[in-house]
Amino acid sequence: MSTYAGIRRRTRLLADSLADFLFPRYCLGCGRRLAVTQHLVCPDCVLNIIRFNAEDSLHSRLLRWGVRIPMYHVGSFAFYRRDEVVARLVHSLKFFNKPEIGRWMGQWAAQVMSSEGFFDGVDAFVPIPISRSRRRQRGYNQAELIARGLSDITSIPVDTSILYRKRDNTAQTHVSLVERGSNVKDVFALFDDCKAEGRSLMVVDDVITTGSTAANAIQTLSEIEDIRLSVFSWAAVREI
Ligand SMILES: [Zn+2]
Repeated sequence: MSTYAGIRRRTRLLADSLADFLFPRYCLGCGRRLAVTQHLVCPDCVLNIIRFNAEDSLHSRLLRWGVRIPMYHVGSFAFYRRDEVVARLVHSLKFFNKPEIGRWMGQWAAQVMSSEGFFDGVDAFVPIPISRSRRRQRGYNQAELIARGLSDITSIPVDTSILYRKRDNTAQTHVSLVERGSNVKDVFALFDDCKAEGRSLMVVDDVITTGSTAANAIQTLSEIEDIRLSVFSWAAVREI
């Protein structure tokens, strides 16, 4: 059996080397060529990511948008800084049709943050929904992929049957802060038949900037009776 396993391993390695020769892959962070055994991002870029440690500022962002209910866990995995690895990963996920990155990003964050107890007591992940037209255009919801990656590691289920997006608020990157606030009001709603009373839900998003999108999702979810709410974003900007 061990010989058979050995042959299989060598065959796979040979196939991977051939694929690498024919279709070389490059690090999404720095553009250097990846080794056969490396996946999406090189080890240097993984090490260069700066962990987010400004939870207080996330709380104040939610407060600023009127979130008054006490939050259970609020946190982010990495600092989002323009032109750095984190920004490149998020950008590739959102605009370059690379769904495999999202799940990997979620798994990576969960491996680190579950050992810190960040997901303890959470019953389900609720990815920030995107509109149907955006989903058609992009082919997937990037927040849902990240949530699936979190779920792979934590075994906490992803629940997309609670919250939906009523309308699209177009490319947030290009609108001013004030516009963003008014842009997301009444964007989300609860499904009529959603069953979430008494549960502990963690909203999942890719990036938090002003916090208005997460705050609006929280406001809508807080209509559910006896609910406990948390927020996770894969990345967040330092301050607004
Ligand atoms: Zn790299």
